[in-house]
Amino acid sequence: MNTIVYKIDEIDERVWLKDAGKVLADGGLVGIPTETVYGLAANALDEAAAAKIYAAKGRPSDNPLIVHIAGMEMIHDLVSELPETAKQLAEKFWPGPLTMVLPKSEKVPYGTTGGLDTVAIRMPSHPVAYKLISDCRIPLAAPSANTSGRPSPTKAEHVYEDLNGKIDMILDAGPVGIGIESTIVDLTGEVPMILRPGYITRDMLSEVVGEVEIDPAILGENKDKNFRPKAPGMKYKHYAPKGDLLLVSGERDNVVQAISRLASEKTSEGFRVGIIATEETKPMYDRLEASEGEVVVMSIGTRKDEATITHNLYDILRRMDDENVSFIYSESFGEGMLGQAIMNRLLKAAGHQQIYV
Ligand code: AMP
Ligand code: MG
Repeated sequence: MNTIVYKIDEIDERVWLKDAGKVLADGGLVGIPTETVYGLAANALDEAAAAKIYAAKGRPSDNPLIVHIAGMEMIHDLVSELPETAKQLAEKFWPGPLTMVLPKSEKVPYGTTGGLDTVAIRMPSHPVAYKLISDCRIPLAAPSANTSGRPSPTKAEHVYEDLNGKIDMILDAGPVGIGIESTIVDLTGEVPMILRPGYITRDMLSEVVGEVEIDPAILGENKDKNFRPKAPGMKYKHYAPKGDLLLVSGERDNVVQAISRLASEKTSEGFRVGIIATEETKPMYDRLEASEGEVVVMSIGTRKDEATITHNLYDILRRMDDENVSFIYSESFGEGMLGQAIMNRLLKAAGHQQIYV
């Protein structure tokens, strides 16, 4: 299959809207930018189209898809019930990076929900995603547009790298803003429960709907292998770079020292090593980089503005792959509003390998 790439700022809006809309109406696949990561979109109500998403990504079939809408009127077809909490959260956070799990209607095929009686729904704020859905009026099932298991795509180039030849079209609108996937909140129980942390934090949700729980399985605190996260996708090793990633936690100077020592050990054994640092600490590793040459140091962003860290996270993991490093050492990010979302992604990328110094 020939994958067509449309650069949004070089092409008339009517053209990409019409052509992408036609691909979707015909049951095809389009890589689209959203404010979180690039999504791989298909008609959510067409089981055969949804099946193509799983095939292109190599995604396990029990891992349900998020359905994207534009405008509240689109939700009524998708759910059998719309609780008051959902209306309140939609009012406050949609369009935006919040996904709500709700009881599904009969129209939504099990092929989209991974066999579940619930459906995950989000209204994206990215103008390209929003306009496309508004224009074609098709609810779009869209998981991240990466090969299953690879870091999520935050640039159209990442989508191309993973899915060229496997999908019909990519809409390239440059790098996305947020860079990590949406917060998922389950509204089917008594108390809303966060199934995946993201840009919209627990405190932000609590301000609107009061008590909010967090699925304990996602905090990486439960070592029991049989402990199942409520979002089926969270059980899979995700976002993994090819190099062996280890997170190092502790006080800043201890962390820098420990990472420097680990990196030196590996380079002396002949390995190429990557270090994920911050704007604040990158200069502290410079000597290591200069003297040994086999160490690649990248800054993931600044601790003064956590949004820079989510923005760069997946791109850094992919760039480490490009550098062919065998071992990667990363600093940790437990603090701050987005700390939980950042650590959730990094811990998954690291297969939960973490040390405290
Ligand atoms: P992705 O779109 O690749 O970020 O993956 C979608 C995430 O949403 C996965 O972790 C899924 O398990 C989760 N998800 C989608 N639908 C549901 C649902 N009905 N119930 C719980 N989790 C869901
Ligand atoms: Mg994904």
